[in-house]
Amino acid sequence: MPTLEQLSDRLWKGIDKTADKGCHPFAPLYRIEEVADGVAFYKGFSNVAVVKTDAGCVLIDTGSSHEVAQQRIFEKVRSYSRERIDTAIYSHGHVDHAYGLPIFLAEARRNSLRLPAVIGHERVAARMKRYILTNGFNTLINTRQFGAAIEWPTDPIYPTETYRDRIVREIGGAHFEITHAKGETDDHSWVYLPERKVLYTGDLFIWAAPNAGNPQKVQRYAREWAAALRAMAARGAEVLLCGHGVPVFGRERVAQALRDTAAYLQSLHDGTVALMNEGAPLDRLIAEVRPPRELAEKPYLQPIYDEPEFIVRNIHRCYGGWHNDVPADLKPAPRVRQAQEIAALAGGAGTLVSRAAALAAEGDFRLACHLLDWAADAAPDSKEVHAVRADVYAQRARRESSTMARGIFRAAAQDSQKIAE
Ligand SMILES: [Zn+2]
Repeated sequence: MPTLEQLSDRLWKGIDKTADKGCHPFAPLYRIEEVADGVAFYKGFSNVAVVKTDAGCVLIDTGSSHEVAQQRIFEKVRSYSRERIDTAIYSHGHVDHAYGLPIFLAEARRNSLRLPAVIGHERVAARMKRYILTNGFNTLINTRQFGAAIEWPTDPIYPTETYRDRIVREIGGAHFEITHAKGETDDHSWVYLPERKVLYTGDLFIWAAPNAGNPQKVQRYAREWAAALRAMAARGAEVLLCGHGVPVFGRERVAQALRDTAAYLQSLHDGTVALMNEGAPLDRLIAEVRPPRELAEKPYLQPIYDEPEFIVRNIHRCYGGWHNDVPADLKPAPRVRQAQEIAALAGGAGTLVSRAAALAAEGDFRLACHLLDWAADAAPDSKEVHAVRADVYAQRARRESSTMARGIFRAAAQDSQKIAE
């Protein structure tokens, strides 16, 4: 079985591709390997680092609330070290990173050991409380995003120690430099171990186009994210451990991966802001702003999870409001009334559907899906309309490269399929 370093090398050289099944940064390998002296890396759907110190183990990230995942991580961590967990550091408050502690706390209680300290940025707790407030909504949007039933947790383990900008902790002779960065989230930390020259980026690097656009989630921060990537690159790490995907090995590769990702985000940011300052509407930003070709081709910047078009929208939202520059949309007529009017003008929902089918056959899924959404709103119970809508959205989902586009289009296909049957 190839090592994580060999897998990383194959991806870096383009022998394997992140879009390939089993090579996607989310593909769980369920493996733990020592990647630097006293530092092990667990590669699951999301990752965990284990650092040995004289005071016990430090976990950087903890995995998810899912019981099976917790059991797996626990067994792997314990196969690497039996020492007590002294501290856990959350890279951010997402459920796949900051919800895996219960099994370790249960172990500590069983053995009457002091419970680990939990370090996180000061905004982590607010995120965890928001997840409780919006539990039903988050269950729904994440089930749609990932195409699998996801139960959103309601029982977080809050940080016991928080910080604002940067802290350095010495734990059992090892130093942990913990720096805040707004990026994928507002509560993100990256961690540098200066003695071992190991960098833990969390989700600021994930072997994919950054999750800076996510259509169903709260604001991301492209500009600050790019700055954080440059700051990380300046540290001279020899191993990069990321929130998803395999580590990056070697000082030059680590710096290049971070600098390229920074340049990718910066270019989308600057291109979007320049057009906004010229007064360009959102429609034009989406159509015109693209990442530089040489960066878009990098094996670690493929749009397999998020994609540049969504990042542009999020940059626009970061500096503006929700108005989309279409004046009618400011105070719109209900969707159903718009759809009924358009369908009536076209000569019925059936006309919209046949034109949509023709457009889809030509590959114009963008336009075809507008017509089908109008047709479905105008004739919500029509099996014929929904049969075509289900088919076209299913085709569209298969053609998309990003998890996020695929998830939303697949959900639309499934909704129509239920009515068509
Ligand atoms: Zn993550």
